[in-house]
Amino acid sequence: MGLQSFLFPPRPRCLICSREFIFSTLSNLCDSCLEKLSFITRFCLHCGCQLAITNQALTCQLCSKGNFILERIRAPLLYQGLARDMIIALKYQQNTGMALPLAQLMADYWKYSFSNHSADYLLVPVPLSQERRNKRGYNQALLLADIIAEQEKMEVKDLVKRIRNTPSLYALGKTQRKEVLQGAFQIETRAKNIVKNRKILLIDDVVTTGSTLNEVGEKLLAAGAKQVSALTATAAERV
Ligand SMILES: [Zn+2]
Ligand SMILES: [Zn+2]
Repeated sequence: MGLQSFLFPPRPRCLICSREFIFSTLSNLCDSCLEKLSFITRFCLHCGCQLAITNQALTCQLCSKGNFILERIRAPLLYQGLARDMIIALKYQQNTGMALPLAQLMADYWKYSFSNHSADYLLVPVPLSQERRNKRGYNQALLLADIIAEQEKMEVKDLVKRIRNTPSLYALGKTQRKEVLQGAFQIETRAKNIVKNRKILLIDDVVTTGSTLNEVGEKLLAAGAKQVSALTATAAERV
């Protein structure tokens, strides 16, 4: 290392605006870009989605119908604006660097919203199908899980298999979603010993209806997991 770079180390550069910065809450996103993100403020106690101002209850309408089997889902960001652009860049534009600020925010939120958080949770990324993973070259949920695990000294296991792709579930009704997801996921045989009596934290980039997370959670509980929660980077707004 030359004296010049020792005395004046290169400053980190913001992933979004490309400006160099001296200090920021996150390692590769400047504070002014961070301010442009929409954080979830008042959330459904079950699925973690942002509650509409008109909803004075503690849960969203979907969860109040009572078909939520996970312990809880939490997400720091609303899936809109800059956060949505970051997810799209991470998933579809090979911009894997976006995983770092998103995972850092997830890790912070995990500590904030899971009062009993501890390293005994096993992180399990929501899988992509083999076909999609080969095409993309990586699973964004696994990238996020690996960063969180490193930061929080937790363990990651990529234990769930996605047998086939599923279409977007957003516009489908509850019964249709269940049908589409039927048999889409499988727990690997070796996983049964690993998940037995463990608390699992599923990791994904976005939660919309929560059906996918519920489906994977159901499989993990059937395989012997003690409890399944989920942490995603973003959540869609719901009523
Ligand atoms: Zn910036
Ligand atoms: Zn809810």
